[in-house]
Amino acid sequence: MERKKAIIIGSGIGGLALGIRLQSLGFNTIIFEKLDAPGGRAYVRRINSFTFDMGPTVITVPHFIEELFALERDAAALGEPDYPASVLGEGSRITSGISSGPATSKYVKIIPILPFYRIYFDDGTYFDYDGDPEHTRQQISAIAPEDLTGYEQFHQDAKAIFERGFIEVGYKYFGNISSMLGIAPDLLRLNAINPLFSFVKKYFKSHKLQQVFSFEPLLIGGNPLKVPAIYAMLHFVEKTWGIHFAMGGTGALVQGLVRKFEELGGVIRYNSEVARIDVSSQNGRKASGVTLAEGTQFNADLVVSNGDYVNTYMKLIDSKYRFFQQDIRLKLMRQSMSLMVIYFGFRADGLKLDLRHHNIILGPSYEDLMRDIFDRKVLAKDFSQYLHIPSLTDPSLAPPGHHAAYTLIPVPNQASGLDWEKLAEPFADKVLGFLEEQGYIPDLRDRLVYKSFITPDYFESTLNSWLGNGFGVEPILRQSAYFRPHNRSEDIKNLYLVGANTQPGGGTPAVMMSAKITARLIAKDFDIPLAIVNGLHTPKDAEKMLQI
Ligand SMILES: Cc1cc2nc3c(=O)[nH]c(=O)nc-3n(C[C@H](O)[C@H](O)[C@H](O)COP(=O)(O)OP(=O)(O)OC[C@H]3O[C@@H](n4cnc5c(N)ncnc54)[C@H](O)[C@@H]3O)c2cc1C
Repeated sequence: MERKKAIIIGSGIGGLALGIRLQSLGFNTIIFEKLDAPGGRAYVRRINSFTFDMGPTVITVPHFIEELFALERDAAALGEPDYPASVLGEGSRITSGISSGPATSKYVKIIPILPFYRIYFDDGTYFDYDGDPEHTRQQISAIAPEDLTGYEQFHQDAKAIFERGFIEVGYKYFGNISSMLGIAPDLLRLNAINPLFSFVKKYFKSHKLQQVFSFEPLLIGGNPLKVPAIYAMLHFVEKTWGIHFAMGGTGALVQGLVRKFEELGGVIRYNSEVARIDVSSQNGRKASGVTLAEGTQFNADLVVSNGDYVNTYMKLIDSKYRFFQQDIRLKLMRQSMSLMVIYFGFRADGLKLDLRHHNIILGPSYEDLMRDIFDRKVLAKDFSQYLHIPSLTDPSLAPPGHHAAYTLIPVPNQASGLDWEKLAEPFADKVLGFLEEQGYIPDLRDRLVYKSFITPDYFESTLNSWLGNGFGVEPILRQSAYFRPHNRSEDIKNLYLVGANTQPGGGTPAVMMSAKITARLIAKDFDIPLAIVNGLHTPKDAEKMLQI
């Protein structure tokens, strides 16, 4: 039987995860990537013996990764995840060792990180968040003992949200409104549709603790003041399965996924920007292939975009195949915030760092800062940042005697009209100056041997993200579940989407989930029984597509 051909636009983690799944389902898959290397947001910048992961650094839910690496011919892996009962209890406190499963270990070494985050408050005190309830209680007692009872209740309620929202319906595809109505009563009962920050405030009076238990959505582009409280599950996801790091950086995980995809016979073409998704209008609109920016055309039985959702529709699909109302809807969608990320290397000789691998450094304001970033769309006077120093865990990421770091500062997306050409350099200096002056990295400016940065311009022009969003469509209630872009296009047959913009959302575990949801839809549409074994495919099979 001739294999069906699939094209994926983009080699983000979602695109790669779907590529692996499509190969295991028996398709011949080719990924066209605009950049010269894989990963998308997880691209790696290597310079002067420093290795900087440009994007994701916090790895959660390692068994999702294991599931991908374990995929061979058996498409039955699209079934429900089989969670050991132990992980649903008090949480698995991981203190040491290797967190990669046996299949993952063949490709990349993943280890647990503790604490998960050190969260610094503006007065210099900090909270080491490590998922251990007893340690958490001790720290709460030190900050606000009156919040201990609230913590116990929060813990219980967040767990209920996690069990319903992640374990039970995490993989559910909300393709129609009735699928959504099915879970709505539970979400209402759990208060999971209230804004997260208001939800958290019910349990904690201390402003510090309100921040500790609500900041996580920022790491996937969500405004704690607006994301629905279903995101309280992030706290529980981290607590249950820990926070992990891929030795060699997230780039090593990406390389592992690429290797796995290629071993299953998939092909990736870099420096290959797709300029158009070709649509045939015989028997209704149907995606028939893609045309690259340099003009070459490729046919396929199905096309998947791992690129930005609004960009995919507005730029890659001819306007004659889009409804007028759809253009309005697309433009009205709220895009997530953007980021300034500063990558820097510094001398470590004689330096005593009291920082951890993951540090959240909160500024003097929280609610006001969120409003500046998400609503007023102005560059605030102060800032909060996530400072990542992976060389504390893996010294190979920096030359001997040095550290490699990045610091990420949430900023408004391009709807702000800010001129980053002018703003970026002084802003970067201000941030690095702050790290030095506040004693986080003493003498940083003297020790600095490398510095570069990206701004919303990078997200807009290099990653083709609408309004330079950092994380895709903003995770707000009216853009979640059924209301989030669907993984199967409703107006163009055989066109699918995968990645942070689609269901269930952004962040590396979610984009792996989105790959599974999209693969299931494709299997259904192409009459592939989920348990079918399709045989291994050779790179030759997929290469044949290139000759069409
Ligand atoms: C700085 C930063 C830090 C983050 N930290 C974390 C973290 O610690 N933990 C976490 O879980 N998540 C984190 N995230 C979020 C996470 O990185 C993303 O949700 C996830 O990587 C997105 O993957 P994706 O598959 O949706 O695609 P993307 O990574 O967005 O990749 C899409 C790909 O499509 C390509 N493309 C676009 N248009 C075209 C075209 N026309 N032709 C060809 N190719 C095209 C792009 O070049 C890109 O390679 C972070 C994000 C950023 C930006």
